[in-house]
Amino acid sequence: MNTPDIAPGRLAADEIEKNFADLHPPLSKSQALIAADRCYFCFAAPCTAACPTGIDIPRFIQSIRSGDIEGAAYAILSENIMGGMCARVCPTEVLCEEACVRNTHEEKPVDIGLLQRYAIDPVIDAGTQLFPRVEASGKRVAVVGGGPAGLSCAHRLAWLGHEVTIFSRDGKLGGLNEYGIAAYKTVDDFAQREVAYILAIGGIEVRTGAGLGRDLSLAKLCREFDAVFLAVGLAGVNRLGLESEDLPGVIDAVRYIAELRQAPDKAQLPVGRRVVVIGGGMTAIDVAVQCKRLGAEDVTIVYRRAREQMGASRFEQDLAQTSGVRIRDWARPVRLVGKEFVTRVEFEHTREGPDRKPEGTGETFAMNADVVFKAIGQEIAWNELGAASAILRVADGRIAVDARRKTSLDNVWAGGDCVAGGKDLTVTAVQDGKLAAQAIDEYLKSGG
Ligand SMILES: Cc1cc2nc3c(=O)[nH]c(=O)nc-3n(C[C@H](O)[C@H](O)[C@H](O)COP(=O)(O)OP(=O)(O)OC[C@H]3O[C@@H](n4cnc5c(N)ncnc54)[C@H](O)[C@@H]3O)c2cc1C
Ligand code: SF4
Repeated sequence: MNTPDIAPGRLAADEIEKNFADLHPPLSKSQALIAADRCYFCFAAPCTAACPTGIDIPRFIQSIRSGDIEGAAYAILSENIMGGMCARVCPTEVLCEEACVRNTHEEKPVDIGLLQRYAIDPVIDAGTQLFPRVEASGKRVAVVGGGPAGLSCAHRLAWLGHEVTIFSRDGKLGGLNEYGIAAYKTVDDFAQREVAYILAIGGIEVRTGAGLGRDLSLAKLCREFDAVFLAVGLAGVNRLGLESEDLPGVIDAVRYIAELRQAPDKAQLPVGRRVVVIGGGMTAIDVAVQCKRLGAEDVTIVYRRAREQMGASRFEQDLAQTSGVRIRDWARPVRLVGKEFVTRVEFEHTREGPDRKPEGTGETFAMNADVVFKAIGQEIAWNELGAASAILRVADGRIAVDARRKTSLDNVWAGGDCVAGGKDLTVTAVQDGKLAAQAIDEYLKSGG
């Protein structure tokens, strides 16, 4: 959609390239050694306890110190096969680095994320395979979904000797690593290079363009495979519930980010002059920052609670503000105004109600907008999953699983964003895939 106020090429190509450069450039060897030297190699390390995939962080940092980069990579990848992507996108400031004891002495943690990247990148670049497959089991597992959860599960199962087929609706594997994560967090096509590394283990067949509920049925997969792992993510988008929500210019943030990630030339992507983003999570920050970096003049995120309650971490909020994005809290949209295109959004101020939920105060204000992004969360697209939606037990709108990621069905496991009780992060999706693969392996070895 192009109008005078929604147009491509707001900045010169070289400026856009600079704006989308690597957010956290990699460490040089000497920087890595200095960073590694700051580690105390704590016993019962709190950083490891805070890592959702349980990476032995002091061990890999010690390996870096002693120059054993492959050993460091093995320590990371054996727990988290997407350690390369997680090093780039994990909110380390609320995970391992928040737990680092260096914070107490110097208010600065060890640079765990950057050290992790330092160890993984050479292994991915060289394609060094660290996980020889064990003897073939003769068992076949279907993995539905090619995002972090599906890929992690597939890799672990292949390593354990099983044959895996990944069915994925999108044309490329990687899930939101490929279509969602902010472009400046994963430059140089890293998502696809990591996928290629994972598949190079062997024993994994890939069928893209294969959608559960459209081209496949769960019942058929259960009949044809020894086990099934569901990792379909959240393909549905929450609606604002306002009239005129379908006006041109009111856009689903995740869809726009996917277009941005796939655009061969970002300068050709239309971007609004005045952009309003509704939401408070990582998607809201990512769409706002990327629009600003594409040349939008005025970008404001509006969130219905206090800033401290935003799903996006403090680091992400600061990134937005240093990129020139304004954040307004305690307000919710009540009306979208426009004839052919959206032109204005009316908001009501909010406050915390007696049940701690935000409630309207009755006072309103308006903001002019050429584009309004909806970024208020995603949900499972149950309507796209066919009969699977009727036979799986559901909790909180997502697939119900036990601690080992087993669903209510006999030979079906599930993980990642599509299951209840998760944190909706890349790293937790990877851990789900790993846990499910270990459970599936035990099931298959016990005659399942
Ligand atoms: C804009 C955005 C930014 C984010 N930024 C970060 C970040 O910086 N750091 C972080 O840790 N997390 C971030 N996240 C969250 C993170 O990307 C997800 O938690 C993670 O990708 C979940 O992995 P998944 O495998 O469960 O699902 P997905 O990554 O969503 O993958 C789902 C897979 O299932 C496939 N699929 C969907 N429906 C079907 C179907 N019917 N049949 C077959 N296949 C299907 C898709 O093609 C895809 O391959 C972000 C999310 C968004 C939306
Ligand atoms: S908590 Fe910090 S200092 Fe201790 S082992 Fe982990 S990274 Fe090293």
